[in-house]
Amino acid sequence: MEKGILHGQVAIVTGGARGIGKSISLTLAQAGAKVLVNYNHSDSKAQELVNTIIGEGGEAVAVKGDVSSNSTAEELIKQALDNFGKVDILINNAGITRDNLLIRMKEEDWDQVINTNLKGMFLTTKAVLKPMLKQRSGRIINISSVIGLIGNPGQTNYGAAKAGVIGFTRSVAKEVAGRNILVNAIAPGYIATDMTNKLPENLKKTILSNIPLGRIGTAEEVAQVALFLASPAASYITGQTIVVDGGMVMQ
Ligand code: NAP
Repeated sequence: MEKGILHGQVAIVTGGARGIGKSISLTLAQAGAKVLVNYNHSDSKAQELVNTIIGEGGEAVAVKGDVSSNSTAEELIKQALDNFGKVDILINNAGITRDNLLIRMKEEDWDQVINTNLKGMFLTTKAVLKPMLKQRSGRIINISSVIGLIGNPGQTNYGAAKAGVIGFTRSVAKEVAGRNILVNAIAPGYIATDMTNKLPENLKKTILSNIPLGRIGTAEEVAQVALFLASPAASYITGQTIVVDGGMVMQ
């Protein structure tokens, strides 16, 4: 692998084995980063991805764990340090949906979405700050959603979690800016992955009609923004949320 803009850097990608996370893992690895790919259920996909990265001349390891548990956060940091010696980049990508109208939403659907999408981010970020504060540098990139900005019927749990991600990002960014740790969020719009493939066809059509660019986005298009935010080119950007949505939400 050629020396890329992230040569020598170490990245952790939560939920990094499929969907947007997979694209981010690959893109960072192709830019020269050593990548710890976290996964929860996708054992074989994680191993395949690690093999692909190694086959391309990069370095990667897969580490299983549910991000909503603190032991996973501690383990991810430990494994990154044991395997690669440091952590420079954390991508908080793991996320789920459990959609229902609020009136029918079960408490467990609320808890699962908040615990995975928001609490998981708190736990991994808290754990990664120890080495990052010590080394006085780091990039943390949190995957939010346009739903956290504009809301969506049937997604009160997801909307609350994703709006929470933005508030969390801004507060942490202010706490750690003095140590040269930059914390930003990406709010993707409608991106082709397993998460959106399961939407009903009529809903997909309605969403598409509200996208000025007239098409669904790709995981690669989100990964390129993550790469930018992780790269030296983004050295003066912190506390921001970059919307990647084909123009769906213009503010
Ligand atoms: P996806 O294809 O459904 O993939 C979800 C990923 O999250 C998988 O890698 C999964 O890992 C991981 N994950 C879920 N629960 C986890 C847990 N408890 N611990 C560790 N990993 C866990 O979804 P996606 O579309 O790529 O979504 C990725 C992120 O982008 C999410 O935060 C999502 O909310 C956000 N997003 C997506 C869209 C979109 O249109 N697709 C739009 C806006 C925001 P396993 O398979 O190993 O369980």
